[in-house]
Amino acid sequence: MTAIPQKRPPAPIRTEALEALLTDRGLVTAEAIDGLINRFVNDVGPMNGAKVVAKAWTDPEYKARLMADGTAAVGELGFAGPQGEHIVVVENDEKAHNVVVCTLCSCYPWPLLGLPPNWYKDPAYRSRIVREPRAVLAEMGLELDQDVAITVWDSSAENRYFILPQRPDGTDGLGEDELAALVTREAMVGVAKVHAPA
Ligand code: FE
Repeated sequence: MTAIPQKRPPAPIRTEALEALLTDRGLVTAEAIDGLINRFVNDVGPMNGAKVVAKAWTDPEYKARLMADGTAAVGELGFAGPQGEHIVVVENDEKAHNVVVCTLCSCYPWPLLGLPPNWYKDPAYRSRIVREPRAVLAEMGLELDQDVAITVWDSSAENRYFILPQRPDGTDGLGEDELAALVTREAMVGVAKVHAPA
């Protein structure tokens, strides 16, 4: 018998069905699921990555460790966990711009940035950023001069890339917390720059 393709119910309904199945069979507890959701909603997010960036901007020795072994250096600040293995940090500057994608699915450094935004998972972003990065970045609001070299990094289970954005001019007097507040998720994926406070 051939299965007839049917329109799939929306993701929240499928997720609930899956949760019910797993808890009914005693494979996971509802508390464990709630704990995981709480962790990613409240405790893990781009604020973690922003702390790493601010520390790298203000502490050259930390930056050297971060560039040499991303996973170990973010672990120093307590950031570790699923999709936090094999973190590779690449630095943006005046002449070299780096941007991250996962062409295959949505690999992303969860402990530093939380869960990926929808645009990161969008098939259009995943295919176009590789073929025409300058155009896609411009559409996302980041216009780069023609003499800026763009490198696109494809994240996977082997390497999860994290961008160290360029520290903006006019931020010399700021401390680590103030700097961290300027750093956005988009800047740490490489689709935006960090801007000094107005
Ligand atoms: Fe992926």
